[in-house]
Amino acid sequence: MSIRVRLTLWYTLVLSVILAAIGFAIYNVFVAVIGENVDRKLNETAALVFSVSTVSRLGEVRIPVAADVFRSAGLYLQVIDPLGRVVGMSDSLRGYDKPINPAVLSLDLADFRPVRHDVREGDVHLRVLTVPIGSPGQIIGYLQIGVQMDSYDESLSQLTRLLLAGWVAGVLLGGVGGAFLARQALRPIDDVTNTARAISEAGDLSRRIPVPRARDEVGRLATTFNGMLARLEALFKAQQRFTADISHELRTPLTTIRGNLDLIRRMRVADDASLDAAQGEIERMTRLVGDLLLLAQADAGLPIRRAPVALDAVMVEVFEQMRAIAGGVNVGVGAEDAIAVMGDADRLKQLMINLVGNAVRYTPAGGSITLNLKRRDGWAVFSVSDTGPGIPPEHLPHIFERFYRVEKSRSRQEAGVNGASSGAGLGLSIAQWIAQSHGGRIEAQSEVGKGTVFTVYLPELRQ
Ligand code: ADP
Repeated sequence: MSIRVRLTLWYTLVLSVILAAIGFAIYNVFVAVIGENVDRKLNETAALVFSVSTVSRLGEVRIPVAADVFRSAGLYLQVIDPLGRVVGMSDSLRGYDKPINPAVLSLDLADFRPVRHDVREGDVHLRVLTVPIGSPGQIIGYLQIGVQMDSYDESLSQLTRLLLAGWVAGVLLGGVGGAFLARQALRPIDDVTNTARAISEAGDLSRRIPVPRARDEVGRLATTFNGMLARLEALFKAQQRFTADISHELRTPLTTIRGNLDLIRRMRVADDASLDAAQGEIERMTRLVGDLLLLAQADAGLPIRRAPVALDAVMVEVFEQMRAIAGGVNVGVGAEDAIAVMGDADRLKQLMINLVGNAVRYTPAGGSITLNLKRRDGWAVFSVSDTGPGIPPEHLPHIFERFYRVEKSRSRQEAGVNGASSGAGLGLSIAQWIAQSHGGRIEAQSEVGKGTVFTVYLPELRQ
């Protein structure tokens, strides 16, 4: 059963109970008010009778009747003796010689109090007040006053019909209104569901759910859902781009290798240039596949090895290694604080090599590169600054993305200087992952034409 139907049913049920209770209360108040009025009329009439009668002898009880008045008021008066014989009556009862309410004769009226009864005979409904005459212990007769209740009964049954009709109409209207309201309230949820279904059927993650203007529950649901879609879309696009980039990166060296092999086959000689080119490409492919494997491990959330690492020693190693291949670039070390961190020495070395390697690759001959390792506020701060071409501000926010290269249009061989080709655009994303997996971060500052500084912050290991 849908929420809409359930809401409507509950709403209608509650409404019908409330309406029934209100109707019941109205009916009862009406009955009580009528009863009070009738009883007052009966009492007043009895008082009137006794005001003009002596009550010591039954024969003297006078009915001071302008009978027509009583008749028009639907009043009947009768005086009976203790045996039930009628000894006096109003004109309205002319010819009727039985007690209006015979039951009263069998009552024990010892306490000399008037009694009231509802008497029904055939279609006639009377409310009868019987007042004993005489004195307590010596009742000489009774005055009975009846009032016709038909018109009241008619009013009551009309009221009952009206209340019932009102109840049915109220419940029906309430039910329809409730169904409408529930539908209105739940429509935005239907919209969300339909859009979600359309998105999943069409596989179109760029679609969004229209967010209702009201900042209510449904609005929040739609916003959250859209946020999730945006994330999914971004992930999906990144995945697609990643696959396309990998294919592209692998195809280029494979094409080169195939060209070289073709050449060797045709010439029937394995010349050094072709072999070198093929080997270079194979090495690059091997590096690329290694980097991809590493990133896959990063994505899988594999933990890194953790052991104390003397970062200054690692920096010196990297410095020696990079200086050897720096060509005309001057590589130097500035500060060299002795700092240890907790982590994986191989990975940390790779991080430094990636950064220093980039600096070497992009800094033209005659430029200089400085490595620094300083302690600052519980952090080991490693930085590489170069006097290279710098990175344009519009590229700076993206350089840590996978496969992102500033010089996309140029061929890789042209992008790097010093004879080194640039990589596939994975170096910085790997460096960033290594920094982050060690609980640190990496920042880049750059000014076009002046140079670039990469700064790595790693939590210092305190002995
Ligand atoms: P790549 O393997 O192409 O070097 P990276 O992820 O290491 O990829 O770097 C991304 C891009 O950032 C590079 O293509 C390059 O344009 C730019 N870059 C990185 N380091 C430097 C630097 N020191 N000077 C200038 N540009 C740099």
